[in-house]
Amino acid sequence: MTHPLPIVRTVADLRARLAPWRAAGEQIALVPTMGALHAGHLALVTAAKATPARTVATIFVNPKQFGANEDLDRYPRDEAGDAAALAHVGCDLLFAPAPAEVYPAGFATNVRVAGLSDVLDGAARPGHFDGVATVVTKLLTMARAHAAWFGEKDWQQLCVIRRLAADLNLETRIIGHPIVRAADGLALSSRNAYLSASERAAATALPAALNTAAAALAAGAAAPETLAAAHAALTAAGFDPIDYITLADAATLGDPVPGQPARLLAAAWLGKTRLIDNVAVALR
Ligand code: AMP
Repeated sequence: MTHPLPIVRTVADLRARLAPWRAAGEQIALVPTMGALHAGHLALVTAAKATPARTVATIFVNPKQFGANEDLDRYPRDEAGDAAALAHVGCDLLFAPAPAEVYPAGFATNVRVAGLSDVLDGAARPGHFDGVATVVTKLLTMARAHAAWFGEKDWQQLCVIRRLAADLNLETRIIGHPIVRAADGLALSSRNAYLSASERAAATALPAALNTAAAALAAGAAAPETLAAAHAALTAAGFDPIDYITLADAATLGDPVPGQPARLLAAAWLGKTRLIDNVAVALR
């Protein structure tokens, strides 16, 4: 039988729960999420637990990272189901604050990571990464965790968070976790719930196009032709529009640098749903 998961909603209660663990010399790991949890989120919790660490999941659908015409209002929410799933994988605590706890009246600070926040998803979603950087900075300082876990699914987000943690001398170690995928290759995402059955079937073209392109690049194919072929494959599968499909340096997201890790990243729409994915590329 799994024990019910303790849930706290204020920073004061969060810190009160963490204090005895910290005093006992235990490691504290944070797993920030927006809820509607799936096996990808739970893999982060399981990995954090195994380090070993007291593992604290957060659920906060952060209004600051949604654009005016985005899906804040319809973003899936299931706190009871999430709490049960977290308890099942041994999560120690859930922090699920209300918006007013995170952004009380008078809140006026914006954390902005220049450059990294302006390309790719940042260009398609103005202000998105300021919202992410601001809330992640707050969550990390609220919990003062030893480590915080983020999925490689949101590769650009991980780059932004690594940059802000270094720039602000945050003591929390930022740890990336590989993408958890469905058996057919589609990266798990809370937003996959928006897909119709036919869209869900077509969605596998996204990881397929990325894998095909990554293999071609690793074999020495030229980037422009390879990216054009991947773009055409996505169009043929019904993706429209394709916000970007790009080869970039894995850390700076600028032009790929010979000898440095590279990443192939894409974002594209199937009907009303925007999907993102990325893969490592071994450039020759
Ligand atoms: P979200 O709730 O979508 O904001 O995601 C919370 C965290 O889980 C982020 O660090 C995501 O990158 C991570 N995550 C979401 N989906 C996956 C996945 N399929 N595999 C690995 N990590 C994921």
